[in-house]
Amino acid sequence: MMLIDIHEPGQTPLPHQGGASVGIDLGTTNSLVAISNQGIREVVSDKQGNVLLPSIVAYEGGKIIVGQEAIEKKGAIRSVKRLMGRGVADIKKIVEDLPFKIVDDENKAIVRIDVDGKKLTAIEVSAEILKTLKKRAEDALENEVDRAVITVPAYFDDAARQATKDAARLAGLEVMRLVNEPTAAALAYGLDNEAEGIYAIYDLGGGTFDVSMLRMEKGVFQVLATGGDTALGGDDFDNIIARYFIAEYGFDNKDFNALVTIAKKAKECLSDNDRFETEYKGSNISINVEKFNQLIEPLVLETIDIIQNVLVDSRVHRDVIKGVVLVGGSTRVPLVRKKVEAFLGIAPLTDVDPDKVVAIGAAVQAESLSQGSNSLLLDVTPLSLGIETMGGLTEVIIPRNTPIPASVSQKYTTFKDNQTGLKVHVVQGEREMVFQNRSLADFDLMGIPPMAAGSAVIEVTFTIDADGLLTVSAREETTGVEQEIQVKPSYGLATEEVETMLRESMEHAREDITARLLAESRIEAEVAINGVLSALEKDGDLLEDGYKATIDQQIERVKQLQQGQDRDELDYEVGQLDKICTDFAQMRMDRAVKQFIAGNTVEDIEEKVDF
Ligand code: ADP
Ligand code: MG
Repeated sequence: MMLIDIHEPGQTPLPHQGGASVGIDLGTTNSLVAISNQGIREVVSDKQGNVLLPSIVAYEGGKIIVGQEAIEKKGAIRSVKRLMGRGVADIKKIVEDLPFKIVDDENKAIVRIDVDGKKLTAIEVSAEILKTLKKRAEDALENEVDRAVITVPAYFDDAARQATKDAARLAGLEVMRLVNEPTAAALAYGLDNEAEGIYAIYDLGGGTFDVSMLRMEKGVFQVLATGGDTALGGDDFDNIIARYFIAEYGFDNKDFNALVTIAKKAKECLSDNDRFETEYKGSNISINVEKFNQLIEPLVLETIDIIQNVLVDSRVHRDVIKGVVLVGGSTRVPLVRKKVEAFLGIAPLTDVDPDKVVAIGAAVQAESLSQGSNSLLLDVTPLSLGIETMGGLTEVIIPRNTPIPASVSQKYTTFKDNQTGLKVHVVQGEREMVFQNRSLADFDLMGIPPMAAGSAVIEVTFTIDADGLLTVSAREETTGVEQEIQVKPSYGLATEEVETMLRESMEHAREDITARLLAESRIEAEVAINGVLSALEKDGDLLEDGYKATIDQQIERVKQLQQGQDRDELDYEVGQLDKICTDFAQMRMDRAVKQFIAGNTVEDIEEKVDF
């Protein structure tokens, strides 16, 4: 199966050499890859038929294990998405909750995870998840996949978006577009073709809750507001049930982890059944849906409170909401559906599997981008962007929730006589003081001619592209002196670092291939030697001593090279062995024919052999 791009006349984009494009939901708990081709959308499964790839990576010796098989591995890295674009300072607060060791490297702002002494960034770990999905799609499509639309939470800041792009690059994927998860969910439902209006996207995953209000207008989505809780999700349901089992059946606290695994099964079972029952350590344990609902109700109500806040934030009254989309595995819990419906007074859309809806939306967007469609998909910038002005104050240049792409300019002047330079400090966030916000970058505009204070005119322009990534430029108008930087957050990787990683991974790939080819050659040599040895055993008596010695010598030579590392030489000598044995093979053939004739009458032979 191949993805075929069909273009409207005159809309064909520059021909893309090579591979297909896919949509990827790079989730905290699970990740998925989907394809869309002429209205047929499907989530790609692995060979066992699983569509969800647990976002878990384990490093075992030189081997990297991703997904289901990594779950049981010691030191497996989970929830790495939480670290994307984060600095060491950012996560100091949450370090205790993280299931892996963080390297506190003073020289590096970016968080690194200690894996057997190797220091890995979240970007590299995410790249492994993306590589696995890329491979999965390639196997299914029987075609190379080199471009993807990848979804990110609507609140992801510049650093986290950049980190996601870098991860994709490491995985050999060109990012066609980063799309907000709620927007992707809306696309999967084709809400872009619906009447204009406001839609709520409720996303309850494994460890995170997000709610977004989208406004669709002329085929364009705006995120009016987002809210959520980065520590609320299905995992909390599991924990509550596990604690209930301990209390109810008198298990030990040491059993907690094992009980969480059972609790997860119980929870998922209770989405379709009234009761769950199993055995643990000789006891029969059970839970029914009433008890389960009672246990999780406070958590579900927390999500409702958050919806309430987001409504206030976006100045939307719940009566005007046209539709509600449910996203995330945890929205399969009937109580969740019931509470959301009761609060918003509207039956949620659930036709598209809530696990898959984001990936499918991403695939739909990938398809339309690869067709050069100009169906513009608009997102907004999640946080305000501005610069530092006198006194350490933040001056907002692009307010949050501005539809992107966007470009905004602001004029400034010098405040000292003969000032020849100006520092531009770019910050992101909603707070008043610069130090309370995130510092994205700074640069100097130099070469302003000496003038009286207030006479230079410096125009600072912020440009955000469709992926939400920022470029800042500054220009002094009287002289035309100009300076521009693509904002590379200090919490991300420098371009050179990404390049080094790419190079290293390619070098490793080359090592891997070399090792594999050598192994193959050794096996081929083995097969060749065994063939000759068994021939010698049967028909060795045909050979003159000198010829036999030549063959024996060559076998020895091949055996020796088999122990070595030189694959080319090994292959060559195996070929030589074959050549040397040509005459021997001929002799054996003659003998076989003679024996054959001796055992048959002429008529038989005429029947059996086509002369
Ligand atoms: P994320 O977006 O965080 O990667 P997902 O959307 O994949 O996460 O949701 C994972 C969560 O969904 C897990 O807590 C899982 O137990 C829960 N889940 C999956 N299937 C069901 C089900 N049938 N009933 C209840 N919860 C479910
Ligand atoms: Mg998700």
